[in-house]
Amino acid sequence: MSDAPVKRPNYRQAMFLTSASRLQQCPADTGWEVAFAGRSNAGKSSAINALTGNRKLARTSKTPGRTQLLNFFSLSDDQRLVDLPGYGFAKVPERIKLEWTRQIEQYLQKRQSLRGMVLMMDIRRPLQDFDRVMLDWSAAAAMPVHVLLTKADKLKKGPAKSTLLQVQAELADQSDLVSVQLFSALKNSGLPELSAVLDAWLTDSSVLDDEDEIVDSDAAAP
Ligand code: GDP
Repeated sequence: MSDAPVKRPNYRQAMFLTSASRLQQCPADTGWEVAFAGRSNAGKSSAINALTGNRKLARTSKTPGRTQLLNFFSLSDDQRLVDLPGYGFAKVPERIKLEWTRQIEQYLQKRQSLRGMVLMMDIRRPLQDFDRVMLDWSAAAAMPVHVLLTKADKLKKGPAKSTLLQVQAELADQSDLVSVQLFSALKNSGLPELSAVLDAWLTDSSVLDDEDEIVDSDAAAP
């Protein structure tokens, strides 16, 4: 693995870098990156938009011709976000779905710079079959996964919270590398929690620890 990035990323600086329809077309496997995945319509583009404050970015990934495999966005020279294709999309021919599946599995297993995956699931339909496949592949690669239960505004507070607890309990049984949170792009809620997870994945921990110490010592000052 290459040297750890020493700067906390600024998600508002995300810029479209390149698309890859095959793994060989990915940018050099240096620095650190985080992938975004989920069923089509789970709210992946809306979450990326909310995080980066840039409506055009994730739309880029939906532009015909760019929907193939991976879309890379740079945050800095050595930090990237990667948008994986939405799965379960009925209009994609079976042959292409199989090819995507194979390539995504390879990407998750082989990509050295990949630090973690954000997995979007509609809070009304969490843990569908292919969500579980993605979780299994990530566990096999010992890669952390952060689940966003999206469109949390579609449920009242109580049911949203109980879905969160159920999904957390089920995933905790399977892996200690999985975390789960509620998210709503519509209400702009859940962003600080998401940024904190991404910061930890994309930044050398000693940098974040130092920053925390500075904050702590400020807090302790008279
Ligand atoms: P993608 O296919 O996973 O990229 O999903 P999109 O981000 O395009 O969202 C799919 C649909 O869900 C769109 O109609 C969005 O407006 C809607 N949506 C996305 N996020 C939210 C949310 O937080 N709340 C609500 N109520 N709708 C959302």
